[in-house]
Amino acid sequence: MQGLMMDYPLTIQTILERVNQFYPRKEVISKLPTGVHRYTYGDFYRRVHRLANVLQDLGVKPGDRVATFSWNHYRHLELYYAIPCMGAVLHTLNIRLFPEQLAYVINHAEDKAIFVDASLLPLVERIKEHIGGVGTFVIMNDTGQPPQTALEPLADYEGLMAGAAETFAFPQLGENDAAVMCYTSGTTGEPKGAVYSHRAIYLHSMAECMADTLALSERDTIMPVVPMFHANAWGVPFAAPMTGASQVFPGPFMKPPDLAGLIQDEKVTFTAGVPTLWFGLYHLLMQEDYDMSSLRAMVVGGAAMPQSLIEDFEKNLGIRVIHAWGMTETTPLGTVANLKSNMDSWSEADRYSVRAKQGTPVPGVEIRAMDEAGNIVPWDGQTMGELQVRGPWVIRSYYNDPRSPQSFTDDGWLHTGDVVTIDPEGYMQITDRTKDLVKSGGEWISSQALENALMAHDKVLEAAVIAIPHPEWQERPLACVVIAPEHKDQVTKEELLAFIRPKFAKWWLPDDVVFVEELPKTSVGKFDKKVLRERYKEYGL
Ligand code: AMP
Repeated sequence: MQGLMMDYPLTIQTILERVNQFYPRKEVISKLPTGVHRYTYGDFYRRVHRLANVLQDLGVKPGDRVATFSWNHYRHLELYYAIPCMGAVLHTLNIRLFPEQLAYVINHAEDKAIFVDASLLPLVERIKEHIGGVGTFVIMNDTGQPPQTALEPLADYEGLMAGAAETFAFPQLGENDAAVMCYTSGTTGEPKGAVYSHRAIYLHSMAECMADTLALSERDTIMPVVPMFHANAWGVPFAAPMTGASQVFPGPFMKPPDLAGLIQDEKVTFTAGVPTLWFGLYHLLMQEDYDMSSLRAMVVGGAAMPQSLIEDFEKNLGIRVIHAWGMTETTPLGTVANLKSNMDSWSEADRYSVRAKQGTPVPGVEIRAMDEAGNIVPWDGQTMGELQVRGPWVIRSYYNDPRSPQSFTDDGWLHTGDVVTIDPEGYMQITDRTKDLVKSGGEWISSQALENALMAHDKVLEAAVIAIPHPEWQERPLACVVIAPEHKDQVTKEELLAFIRPKFAKWWLPDDVVFVEELPKTSVGKFDKKVLRERYKEYGL
């Protein structure tokens, strides 16, 4: 027997309508080089209609890919809605990709037009010979100066908007239609495209509003620091309007004083970003006075948030940290580390150790971990296995990519490439990327566990542990450490090793510690261990 429910497609169009109907006076605030821009969701709604007309006038048809090359700001938000709501596919380009990778993804997606911030034009100009298929470059002028560029054909965003009709009849869409696409940051090989459906984004937005996940609500003012060109800024630009929360966009201003200033001035209640951002913010807040009292929580993911930093934020600054895990392929939220009620009576140390894990899957997502022999590992918090996931916002293949089949199991789960343990309460903890594990004498050493222990030292700013080749043990760990500027030259290798020694078996300890000025980062701000491995490939041989 069939259920007797309405066939009501879950689309981004319904989020757009809702935010205008119920929250038209809530604000969207963007910090741009030309000053702080503010308008309401009502203004936003009207401009999305104009923008859909602009797209149609440019010849964009349903199914066409339209790219953005842009910071987080209100025009980018308008594109987030106008493109998918008119039936086309928003392709967010990562502004930090290498030129060859950028040209590759533009050509692979066959982008029809690119909407680009004037301040980022030089990055697109570098590849203009290689992206001949792009029909129009639309400049979003965030500089206040007339843009100088050799790109063509060229159009001006505000000029087109001024000439466009005010209303647009959005077509009826199916919930499984493509809405957004985003390529993985791909530290090895060519990037791969994830294509999100309207349904996936809609359900993902609802999941982010659940009380036991991120609890986003109308009362929030949310600042996504995670870029809108990386995994939909973790879904905030869709979830916030769905629930009626205001948004604050930092534009290109991503330094700790900019972020602290925005939180203080705009009374931000919730923010989202990768740990490297928060290292810097923590050190700033410990030295200078900002009013952070509006902030109820920050969600941190994309890379492991060390337990020590979670504790520091909460105990020294009163700022709650929510650790979460996700990936481009999972729209991206997969797990969140909130405590269950039965853990309230646990010791503080035990509660922090649970909250430093990557957490339990949000409703809709399923997880399991598998060993190299293909056995599902027990949920004992000890046994490591590769994490596999499935769910309504997990991709089932990459876009036009022959490498797709190897990324999925025969029974339809996505291989994440993360090595994890799962404890009896269902909390997943990442021990490494498969390619970052140190394999010493056939045994696995978790580079992330060593990094977290090193970063708990109060003079250490950042630490990355990599495998270096070893004649006897095949691989051994090497720690690359950045000391906080105020403690430069005050820390020795012996001191650091003595600090972490009590936590590990002797054979886990790094063979050496090298002190570096900074760690190389990937295009989305994670430690780039590929670069480090290359740099130290002959270390100690
Ligand atoms: P991306 O698709 O670029 O967002 O990268 C996804 C990958 O980032 C995951 O597969 C993990 O390896 C890593 N990652 C994401 N969140 C976390 C986290 N909270 N802790 C550790 N690694 C994470």
